[in-house]
Amino acid sequence: PRFTVAEIRQSFLDFFAERGHAIVPSSSLVPGNDPTLMFTNSGMVQFKDVFLGTDKRPYNRATSVQACLRAGGKHNDLENVGYTARHHTFFEMLGNWSFGDYFKKESIQWGWELLTKVYGLPAEKLLATVYHEDDEAYDIWNKVIGLPPERIIRIGDNKGGKYKSDNFWMMADTGPCGPCSEIFYDHGAHIPGGPPGSPDEDGDRFIEIWNHVFMQFDMKEDGSVVPLPAPCVDTGMGLERLAAILQHVHSNYEIDLFEALIKAAGRETNTADLSNPSLKVIADHIRATSFLITDGVIPSNEGRGYVERRIVRRAIRHGYKLGQKTPFFYKLVPDLVAQMGDAYPKLKEQQEHIANTLRQEEERFFETLANGMDILDNALAGGKTTLAGDVAFKLHDTYGFPLDLTQDVARERDVTVDVAGFDAAMNHQKEQARAAGKFKMEKALEYTGTSTTFTGYDSLQESAKVL
Ligand code: ATP
Ligand code: MG
Ligand code: MG
Ligand code: MG
Repeated sequence: PRFTVAEIRQSFLDFFAERGHAIVPSSSLVPGNDPTLMFTNSGMVQFKDVFLGTDKRPYNRATSVQACLRAGGKHNDLENVGYTARHHTFFEMLGNWSFGDYFKKESIQWGWELLTKVYGLPAEKLLATVYHEDDEAYDIWNKVIGLPPERIIRIGDNKGGKYKSDNFWMMADTGPCGPCSEIFYDHGAHIPGGPPGSPDEDGDRFIEIWNHVFMQFDMKEDGSVVPLPAPCVDTGMGLERLAAILQHVHSNYEIDLFEALIKAAGRETNTADLSNPSLKVIADHIRATSFLITDGVIPSNEGRGYVERRIVRRAIRHGYKLGQKTPFFYKLVPDLVAQMGDAYPKLKEQQEHIANTLRQEEERFFETLANGMDILDNALAGGKTTLAGDVAFKLHDTYGFPLDLTQDVARERDVTVDVAGFDAAMNHQKEQARAAGKFKMEKALEYTGTSTTFTGYDSLQESAKVL
């Protein structure tokens, strides 16, 4: 069967609603309950306090389609966009949860039933990983589901330490944690990449689609674990990755929704070759930046706003690469609304605000982009393999080029940026500004006769730096 993105969202929620799960709406990209987290990066974020026992809900089974962002925080997939078939900055995560209710068996069985019966995926193309000590999950895959041993892969502590593993999940350094089991789909031998756990697992042949996390333990300060009284389940499946399989394409960027956005990006940049990777970046970034604006994050020079600015400017630079000299990015907003406005009405409601915000940022950056690119092009010419840190800093300071934008350009030409040199130049400038500011402040204080320590320079500096 061939499912549209809209049909997948609905059928997923229906499947779990029929099995007693409350349908919970997507929460904001800005986490409401966790100031340490930059953005909502998975479906469980809005349930964190339920797992910790400090929040109670009127249900013990839930399902959702959660808007997620993996840019700028602990999870950062920005550098993968345009390079892999499976990563976005913004994506939608399908999930189901058990809060002290069902556990591994139901979760795996329902997952298998949904994938093979409802969505009709061929069983022989699916593989599962389990944490190496998790015999319970292994046996469910093998004996209950009937998956042959060669397609059940035990993943050990591959991240340097006990419980440091791709298949062991921890909420934080202490607290709820447990093994996970991930379902992979084999897109076929014509695509490079090895199975999970192999040296070339990062290829795009075997694509991870669904992670089932079994919160089973409480991790103590000393690194030991004790069983939780009421184990929980937390799962997450990438909507776009599932859609690619169900639409018989390999890359997320070939699904219906992205096909439309890439076409729009081609139209606004006069690019006929729709396989140009810059169009993927632009299509990805219009989603991330527009959704952030609907959640109140607008381009600025610090915190979340600076991540928004970085993503917008990266998109603009890719448009510039395709020949754009004036604002074009904001013109994709109606196309995004056409694709996602029904599922996310706030996009429709704020359409004008989104477009205006993006256009303003474009107008601003286009003032310095061409001159900055001339400097960068010159610095990158001549076959050097490193770009000097002070050049990257000058681009940042005078031309509004975020460091990662400069790195993005450099990477296209196999050049790396001297980040230590960039930091040194930045610190040097801060010191100078601090000295100058201190002098002015001392002068001012002479008049009032107050003696006080002024600590505001860092933030003032931050706002003064980028255009
Ligand atoms: P990968 O190893 O491919 O980077 P992950 O292990 O980081 O994925 P999880 O944190 O387990 O991903 O998230 C659960 C699911 O969300 C994944 O199995 C995948 O389907 C989807 N997903 C994760 N990151 C992305 C992304 N950047 N873009 C699209 N889908 C994603
Ligand atoms: Mg990842
Ligand atoms: Mg993974
Ligand atoms: Mg995973």
